[in-house]
Amino acid sequence: MPHESRAALPRYEHLYINGEWVKPLDGELIESIDPATGRPWAIAPMGGRADIDRAVAAARAAFNGPWRRIPGYERAALLRRFADLFSAAIPELAVIESRDNGNLVREHRASLTAQVQWYQWFASLADKAQGTTIPIDDSVHAFTSRVPVGVVGAVIPWNAPLLATCLKIGAALAAGCTLVVKPAEQTPVSALELARLIHEAGFPPGVFNVVPGFGGTAGAHLVMHPDVSKISFTGSTQTAKHMVRDGADNLKRFTFELGGKAPHIIFADADLDNAINAATASAWRLTGQSCALGSRVLVERTVYERVVEAFRTRAHSVRVGLPSIDSNHMGPQAHEAQLKKTLSYIDFGKEDGAELVAGGHRIATPELASGYFVEPTVFAGVNNGMRIARDEIFGPVASLIPFDGEDEAIAIANDTPYGLTAGLWTRDVGRAHRVSSRIEAGMVWVNTYSFLRWSTPYGGFKSSGWGRENGIDALDPYLETRTTVISTTGQFPDLYAS
Ligand code: ADP
Repeated sequence: MPHESRAALPRYEHLYINGEWVKPLDGELIESIDPATGRPWAIAPMGGRADIDRAVAAARAAFNGPWRRIPGYERAALLRRFADLFSAAIPELAVIESRDNGNLVREHRASLTAQVQWYQWFASLADKAQGTTIPIDDSVHAFTSRVPVGVVGAVIPWNAPLLATCLKIGAALAAGCTLVVKPAEQTPVSALELARLIHEAGFPPGVFNVVPGFGGTAGAHLVMHPDVSKISFTGSTQTAKHMVRDGADNLKRFTFELGGKAPHIIFADADLDNAINAATASAWRLTGQSCALGSRVLVERTVYERVVEAFRTRAHSVRVGLPSIDSNHMGPQAHEAQLKKTLSYIDFGKEDGAELVAGGHRIATPELASGYFVEPTVFAGVNNGMRIARDEIFGPVASLIPFDGEDEAIAIANDTPYGLTAGLWTRDVGRAHRVSSRIEAGMVWVNTYSFLRWSTPYGGFKSSGWGRENGIDALDPYLETRTTVISTTGQFPDLYAS
């Protein structure tokens, strides 16, 4: 890939606030790095605290003004128009997202195609936030209404920026909230492209604002802002803990989709070919940079050696390369710090006594050496106490852990602070129910893996999150319930009459 001179880079110099493109007030312009080359590919704006203030003020004014009066069916129509524009923009969006975060253009195209359905799903929910009537007696009429929570701050991660943004903005806009979106500093560009489409779809000014910025300044300021009612965050558990502290003063509402260390359990009675297909896919897909992937592969001891051997062979058939080439299987890590983290965990695996079966190195071929590419990596002989089994690495590193019997599989699976997803493979339907019902995770896949839809609630037990995204109830985290009690008589006695 040729080196682009700075002057030739695409320039994104403006934030999107109150329906206008504005220069940062107290922020800066940075070079956004293409992880496939390690070189800048675009100039992007980083907003500061004053920019967040401006965006929150616009979102608050829109919430208190025109947006509040727009009925659900019109919000639905706007979302549908946006979904159509988004669908037409998929080819460009996939390339932009890939240059920012390094995942394959081909995989982004597939994800963005699914996101169109997601937006349609949210549109279909926009006029269905119904309340209930509560039977008491003839003297009162009591009912509940579901009302939008207010201004939402959406804090977006770098591993799947457009997907995380979709899950948040689709639900928040359908619920009638307004938004300030803060993309990650490593992947600032795609949300600005979304703003262009939101603008074209005709959303009123201030309903949707985008301020890319650094987490410690713009992000923290958004979380602490008294006029932001709720934060919806996808990212690390560590950052979520900071946010809870930062939001404590005004008892901010939070929805969190956080880290994972998913167990992918293969019983000896499984269809091993399919189990291995799924386990190798979920260990390395997206370069391991998804909280849902199965980084701990738990294998029943009687088939352990066979599965280790299959992982070793499969690792050698993974084509790691430029994300723009559709025939590649795996791109680079999304940024340099993540590359270093993955390599350091590979060292921890060796130090802790695991056996490196395949991979384990940064790729140094001339074409890929300046990018952040790592070989698909396999460790055998892992026990659940090792650092590679405890911590979320976010790299293409599979840890194969042997077990004996259901009870031990479940004990290992649940011996983690996380609880986002899990997979299990067995031909025994009773075992499928027994084991899945004891797994502490918000999503359990049986004889499949990574099956996600707009209609399936998604979120974590334990340190993997608060609340759920998707499903029929996707709007709930963006709604408050107001109970109204109306007397049919208007009689109220004087308590002090005698
Ligand atoms: P990572 O540690 O892998 O970079 P994070 O979970 O920290 O992932 O980052 C995801 C998002 O959270 C990014 O948009 C980042 O800017 C933001 N962020 C990081 N720290 C904070 C913070 N203290 N307050 C608000 N947002 C933050």
